[in-house]
Amino acid sequence: MGRIIGIDLGTTNSCVAYLEGSEPHVIPNQEGARTTPSIVAFTDKGERLVGQLAKRQSIINPKGTLYAVKRLIGRKYQSAEVEEATRRLPYSLSSAANGDVRIKVAEKDWSPPEVSAIVLQKLKEAAEAFLHEKVDDAIVTCPAYFNDSQRQGTRDAGIIAGLNVMRIINEPTAAALAYGRNRKNAETIAVFDLGGGTFDISIMEFEEGVFKVLSTAGDTYLGGEDFDQRVMEHIIAEFKETTGIELKNDKMALQRVKEAAEKAKCELSTAVETELNLPFISGDKTGPKHLVTKLTRSKLEQLCDGLLERTRGPCEQALADAKLTADKIDAVLLVGGQTRMPKVSQMVEKIFGKIPNNSINPDEVVAIGAAIQGSIIKGDVQDLILMDVTPLSLGIETKGGTFTKIIERNTSIPATKTMTFTTVQDNQKMVRVHVLQGEREISELNKSLGVFMLTGIPDAPAGTPHIDVSFTIDANGIVQVTAVDRASGNKQEVQITASSGLTESEIQRMIESARQYSDEDKARKDKIKYQTRLESLIAATQAAFNEVQNLIKPQDRQTFETAMDEAKKALETADSEELKIAYNHLDLASRNVSNALMQQFGTEQKKAEIPKPS
Ligand code: AMP
Repeated sequence: MGRIIGIDLGTTNSCVAYLEGSEPHVIPNQEGARTTPSIVAFTDKGERLVGQLAKRQSIINPKGTLYAVKRLIGRKYQSAEVEEATRRLPYSLSSAANGDVRIKVAEKDWSPPEVSAIVLQKLKEAAEAFLHEKVDDAIVTCPAYFNDSQRQGTRDAGIIAGLNVMRIINEPTAAALAYGRNRKNAETIAVFDLGGGTFDISIMEFEEGVFKVLSTAGDTYLGGEDFDQRVMEHIIAEFKETTGIELKNDKMALQRVKEAAEKAKCELSTAVETELNLPFISGDKTGPKHLVTKLTRSKLEQLCDGLLERTRGPCEQALADAKLTADKIDAVLLVGGQTRMPKVSQMVEKIFGKIPNNSINPDEVVAIGAAIQGSIIKGDVQDLILMDVTPLSLGIETKGGTFTKIIERNTSIPATKTMTFTTVQDNQKMVRVHVLQGEREISELNKSLGVFMLTGIPDAPAGTPHIDVSFTIDANGIVQVTAVDRASGNKQEVQITASSGLTESEIQRMIESARQYSDEDKARKDKIKYQTRLESLIAATQAAFNEVQNLIKPQDRQTFETAMDEAKKALETADSEELKIAYNHLDLASRNVSNALMQQFGTEQKKAEIPKPS
């Protein structure tokens, strides 16, 4: 088995790490940065950009720049979250045939895992370039509060990127692993993880290398993006008040305001006041309009107060589920970039009654924890054991549209549980098993994971058949359901992906197109390399030729000029192979130019050596 890398696929930024011996290291990307913006862009020229390059051009290409895609993974188009995202995102969303959300860009409908796969592919390539070896195996993290569809989506993204996803682990659990692996004493900790798009709180204990998650809770639609949005709304309203101009419908202006809002928000984590300056943001009859305004930390805190308050409920629920009170928590770890905001720390201190620990790097700790988990799976690290939980209850719809839980939330995983059900009518031949995930008593208020029919039940009075419904959650938190009629032995397994997510054939098609794109990408890079080499050779030899052409035999001159023409033409049209050939021809033909240069140099030397008559 090769190396297993750890990947934190974040809403805003992603990070990849590996273990060398027992030491974790973050792998820098191709641009030398330790984290990569989780952004993919499709330009008018048909180029595909990832990471920092995609981020840099987002202002001029708002409709083609896909960010915060993680918030769409595993979601239905018809959902409150996607409705809200449609209002604020500059790119277009649509519905797939099965109701899943799709992103419309570059004349194609993209599934969110397919877009995330492009980011993962870049991280895989960065790791391969850095480690000088092929990397296939990875641990990919996801928010602890992700449901089954979101986990499946995350795993699909990895598979499409050409990765063998060994395990999906929860981000806070990964962070705790990185924090606690060298600590000697038993501790009970809370991990407060507020990233770009999601919020998780996990309570866990570790002792002598055993990490046990006691409970987890969160909000998969609460993160830094929402803080930026609050600032944006404030700036836009203020601008309208002073100029009468509405910026809401101007996508390019909105993108500029978004960037400035995020920058101001981050600056206000250290400064108490900052200025936003966006010249020529709009204009009217009176001329161009500039957006220049100040934002104070206290105003930011006031704007985001409601968002901060939303973290309290999940924290209290996680404590209650762990059957602990705040005073029993030894340390609170802060994870996720948004926790750098001082008011977040203050909120955490209010909830847990202690100053949180911010000794770890919130941008890197999750990827490092994932890499450690990789080494545990590989057997390189043997003194650590991780025991995680399922974040949401699982069960089926029963009579009257009620939800019957089979596996309760915060059950340790992997887990299997069986419950026996029966029919409601005499001689009922089949039952419809509707699998759901969530905490609400009414089925339709929970997340539907799939529906399947168990048929062939022998005739029997209502209430007499025994139908065993078993739920299995694997270590990735991914669910499998079977229903068996005891009398007939008939068995059905749920196809969770039938009502949501990508089908096997869709994934295969996407893997193929991702691979194809990667090959094309390499070919493009190769071409640029040979073009650059040839351009330099053309420039150097042309200059030398101009200098010494009189010293070259006419036949050699002709050969050189032909090779030079071929080289210039190759630059315009050729592929890598033709560029290489043209390079070799010109290189060969330019030897006579070099000889002539040496000859001229020798003559000049000799002239310089002849003593002048005194
Ligand atoms: P993550 O998903 O952990 O990379 O977190 C990204 C989020 O953290 C984004 O919304 C960033 O704007 C936010 N963030 C990063 N640095 C800071 C900072 N210094 N102050 C406030 N928020 C920050």
